[in-house]
Amino acid sequence: MSASGADGAPEFTIKIASTGDAFGVAAGQSMLSVLHENGYAVQHSCTSGLCGTCKVRYLEGEPDHRDMILTDDEKTEYLTTCISRCRSGEIVLDLPPPGEEPIVQAETPLAVVDQDICVACLTCVRACTYGAAAIDSAAIGVGGIVGAATVNRDDCAGCGLCAAACPTGAISMTQFSDGEVIERSGGFAPRPASEPLVVAFACPHCAPAVNAFDGGGKSSGLEVMEMPCTGRIDNLHLMRTFEDGADGVIVTGCEPGRCYHSTGNLNAAKRTERVRGWLDEVGLGGQRLAMVHLPARDGEQPFAEAAGKMVAAVAELGPSPLRKVAPEPGDEPAPEDALLAELGLL
Ligand code: SF4
Ligand code: SF4
Repeated sequence: MSASGADGAPEFTIKIASTGDAFGVAAGQSMLSVLHENGYAVQHSCTSGLCGTCKVRYLEGEPDHRDMILTDDEKTEYLTTCISRCRSGEIVLDLPPPGEEPIVQAETPLAVVDQDICVACLTCVRACTYGAAAIDSAAIGVGGIVGAATVNRDDCAGCGLCAAACPTGAISMTQFSDGEVIERSGGFAPRPASEPLVVAFACPHCAPAVNAFDGGGKSSGLEVMEMPCTGRIDNLHLMRTFEDGADGVIVTGCEPGRCYHSTGNLNAAKRTERVRGWLDEVGLGGQRLAMVHLPARDGEQPFAEAAGKMVAAVAELGPSPLRKVAPEPGDEPAPEDALLAELGLL
């Protein structure tokens, strides 16, 4: 089957290796829903390519991976059935017959509370739109106070809204931890002074539009950081990205009222505004940071406009003073590098 549906998503066939069953997956259907309709139990959670719970091993065929959770290595063996498609017309899945346990139990991203530093402020309880965070009155928090937050693993969707909102840093994520985000956002290679570094933090629903941007995209120094939700983006992540030398940062979230996690995009808009003020105060310039709300479909043009404005703002402000600049051919070595070279340490 290779026809395309009304939305342009190709139809394809899934085949189950253990039984030989074959099912068509029409445009607008997911592999997960087709498997469930036909009695194949596949665990799932977010159904949005964020958590990886529904991943299944494939044996033949070429998946069109659309999740943001599997690593490149994992993608050579697994696909997420909730959101991924197929490029090859047919894909063979390594699933047991109906009624038997699935072979793969994926790890779901989760929020974890360090109750020793929880002040029971209720911020996470209010931030969580899944009702997963609650105060456990039997737990002991910071300074021996009675009551500390807890997260119900079965209800947690791994969106990270609570972790970004917690004022004490008591909540960490099993994936997209602060350390992981900072390492990735600060790890972009230095580039010549003539090429700006603009980092885009994108939610999964905006990531396709951001990744599709090529009008000056990579050549304009655009680097993309995919996040589970813009609500996961903490002030710390934005400030560290500037500290690590970005000239500009764009946060891309869904339109108000259309956030998959309800209010993540609104939280991100507030944080972005706050950090813009801080950038002004420290003399870096608030114009180096912007948030854009992209429509669910056809987000390429709005993103291209936002990226164009950011590149223009950076061109006007000049490179960030915190910028790490890659040497260009013919450049004099920096004095500290010259000294290290003289000492034979470079
Ligand atoms: S937001 Fe942080 S400090 Fe406040 S209750 Fe939740 S875990 Fe505790
Ligand atoms: S990660 Fe999201 S779903 Fe899980 S407890 Fe935090 S806010 Fe709730």
